[in-house]
Amino acid sequence: YDRSDCPPDVAQLGRSTWTFLHTTAAYYPLKAPPETQNNMMALLKSLSLLYPCSWCADDFQKDIKYNPPDVSGREGLSRWLCERHNSVNLKLGKERFECTNEKLDERWGEGPKNGRCD
Ligand code: FAD
Repeated sequence: YDRSDCPPDVAQLGRSTWTFLHTTAAYYPLKAPPETQNNMMALLKSLSLLYPCSWCADDFQKDIKYNPPDVSGREGLSRWLCERHNSVNLKLGKERFECTNEKLDERWGEGPKNGRCD
């Protein structure tokens, strides 16, 4: 039955959050000005503290401590996020995503070249 008006479970929350993060990275400036870099750094830090799944938040805090965000520009940020997502994928036994610019742009930026998603 339809559960779309129920509170999100951990998986739904995760899908929505990754959608937001990867999409934001795909539209991030190619080369981000200092103020934008500060804002992105603050967003990621806050997310790791406020994420409403406590064990997810704990692991994410540890992960970004060892792997500081690359907020310099679109490609660096997209790849960094892809790797963070892969570390959660690994933990959950999910498939690894190939973090190339091409694959990331196809999934989260311009979409596939064959126009399937236009
Ligand atoms: P998702 O993992 O949500 O991915 C959505 C889509 O993103 C995929 O269909 C694929 O097209 C694409 N994708 C997959 N991998 C990548 C990648 N590396 N880079 C770019 N795109 C990719 N769940 C838990 O059970 N335990 C946790 O500890 C946990 N920690 C989390 C921490 C954070 C910060 C976030 C945002 C989510 C966390 N989640 C956790 C949720 C989990 O990551 C998934 O979102 C959830 O399990 C649903 O998975 P899914 O198979 O629908 O696809």
